[in-house]
Amino acid sequence: MSIPQERRLVTAVPGPRSLELLARKQRAVPSGIGTTLPVFVTRAGGGVVEDADGNSLIDFGSGIAVTNVGNAAPRVVERVTKQVADFTHTCFMVTPYESYVSVCEKLNALTPGDHDKRTFLVNSGAEAVENAVKVARYATGRQAVVVFDHGYHGRTLLTMALTAKNMPYKQGFGPFAPEVYRAPLAYPYRWPGANPAEEAFAQAVEMIDKQIGAQNVAAVVIEPIAGEGGFIEPAKGFLPKLAEYCRANGIVFVADEVQTGFARTGDLFACEDEGVVPDIICTAKGIAGGLPLAAVTGRAELMDAVHPGGLGGTYGGNPLACEAALAVLETIEQEDLVARARRIGEIMLPRLRAMQERFPVIGEVRGRGAMIAIELVEPGTKTPNPAVLQEVVKRCHAEGLLVLTAGTYGNVLRFLPPLVMPEHLLEEGLSILEKAFS
Ligand SMILES: *Cc1c(COP(=O)(O)O)cnc(C)c1O
Repeated sequence: MSIPQERRLVTAVPGPRSLELLARKQRAVPSGIGTTLPVFVTRAGGGVVEDADGNSLIDFGSGIAVTNVGNAAPRVVERVTKQVADFTHTCFMVTPYESYVSVCEKLNALTPGDHDKRTFLVNSGAEAVENAVKVARYATGRQAVVVFDHGYHGRTLLTMALTAKNMPYKQGFGPFAPEVYRAPLAYPYRWPGANPAEEAFAQAVEMIDKQIGAQNVAAVVIEPIAGEGGFIEPAKGFLPKLAEYCRANGIVFVADEVQTGFARTGDLFACEDEGVVPDIICTAKGIAGGLPLAAVTGRAELMDAVHPGGLGGTYGGNPLACEAALAVLETIEQEDLVARARRIGEIMLPRLRAMQERFPVIGEVRGRGAMIAIELVEPGTKTPNPAVLQEVVKRCHAEGLLVLTAGTYGNVLRFLPPLVMPEHLLEEGLSILEKAFS
């Protein structure tokens, strides 16, 4: 790695140069586009992000689970650099090229299930989820879509409707797309009963029977670990039961693995953890090292049902993004990033659990692989504590540790380090966090 793998603070965070740029941003960009930490980036790689003032920050965010292989990862740089000099766009629907097909072949082979599959490529996670619903509706001739509490699926009209949380994603942007129904999620920490998997599943089935009719449901769309909702791993058994119910009722089971995919959770895809085989899987974020790309992979008979020309888009599967995706898949395999993600979890979880013992504001430590979170509460209760979260985040940022928040109640600190992060930076980041809590 060409960037020194060290935390280095030479000014306050943000420094004067970043603050100048922030003032320009505020004049040029609408305030609806938020900023987690206003340091303006000049370089990034491995486990660090460098800013315009010369500070080097430890990256616990990966640009929201995107740079799993690291920023400007060597194989990505090499393949994209070669491609950009050859051709940058033809539109795959006008004149195709090999790399698009190669990405699809690889996703067909690597995603869960050994059935015959097809993949097509789009630009964003939201676009992938929208297209999964289009395919499911077309193939089943049904309209209803069932989603879950705490779910996040994007910001377009349909995916806003699929998303659970009002602020900031939906407020003022309605009316929303119809035929979307929400079921409870088996959220172990906050489930009132003793058997979250069984009880939440029973409630979902009852909701479907009473309000929709199973024969009218085109798709069930679920994140195998809810991302923006607060890294909620549904109670074990919930996902397999849902998948089985879908199979028995002719419903397309769609796994939104936009955030969980590409080795993030210690499996290549999070569904593998319980052996769940989705009918359609949506991927994006970690797929191409930061180049805009997303994919819809599904059973051949569903995907091939749609008439020619019914799917697509101008940029979907751009050749630079496809080369980047091939480089990402090669990197995951050759550097065994699935094992790296597990190792990151093995380092983080015990240290975070030790912090939980010391700091009663930490209500729960959870997650798999390198998708880890802590939920903050009022000590001795489960009442969400977003105020402490904001204070901890502020202190981490000031010390040069980039962390992200999440959660329906705005009280979850989430950690998504690049899978190539050196262990000394991971440990240093955890020490900064511990100091912030004390
Ligand atoms: C980020 C995300 C999306 C939306 O992806 P975009 O690329 O931002 O459109 C959809 N689903 C999940 C689970 C996500 O984390």
